[in-house]
Amino acid sequence: MCDKDQHMIGCGCSARRGFLKMASAATALGLAGGGLFTSPLYADALTKAQRDSMTSDQIIAVMKAGNERFRAGVRKDRNYLNEQRASATGQYPAAVLLSCIDSRAPAEVIMDLGIGDIFNCRLAGNIENPDILGSMEFACKLAGAKVVLVMGHTACGAIKGAIDNAELGNLTGLLEKIKPAVQATTYAGDRSANNYTFVDAVARKNVEMTVANIRKDSPVLAELEAKGTIKITGAMYNLETGVVEFF
Ligand SMILES: [Zn+2]
Repeated sequence: MCDKDQHMIGCGCSARRGFLKMASAATALGLAGGGLFTSPLYADALTKAQRDSMTSDQIIAVMKAGNERFRAGVRKDRNYLNEQRASATGQYPAAVLLSCIDSRAPAEVIMDLGIGDIFNCRLAGNIENPDILGSMEFACKLAGAKVVLVMGHTACGAIKGAIDNAELGNLTGLLEKIKPAVQATTYAGDRSANNYTFVDAVARKNVEMTVANIRKDSPVLAELEAKGTIKITGAMYNLETGVVEFF
């Protein structure tokens, strides 16, 4: 029933049809709300129909609302086993994130998302490179994600390392890619890694530059954005307040 290549991004196999039927019944009953990941009644997995019915801005709104739930301590009571089973035959993630490896900034947790909701590329200092761009192009052009979100965070060790000119094995080369953001950051005070205000200013500039670099280095994504199919944007996560601030 399923074409092998199509199965990854969507198919009409019986299991999926059954799920879509359930989903449209839920929509008819007004239970599905603004999208699967906002409805406590439908927390199994995002379907293609549900993802495709949302705009980029609505998807960003869902992520914001999830972060508000996280901060309020009212995260959804998820059944990960149900999410795993519901998503096993196909995935329809709404967004692709590029975030830092920092253990305190797991996007799915801090935005109360579930299995199958987003792709997440994680790399120290959340900078782009050809492999990351290839992953994003797959996520948007082939798999249908509608948002590319670069999420930096406060007190980032990679940013501090770039400011300090830290050197260690392969890390040296990675930090080199963050240094243009250090240089581009306008800051009159103490420009050292001990000054968290400066560190966070560089992290923000690094997100802005990464967003610009994604547009510049990926004609595939730039074209999707120009056509209004996707939105490419940035955010900063504050480790102390738990707030994800969208640009
Ligand atoms: Zn970091």
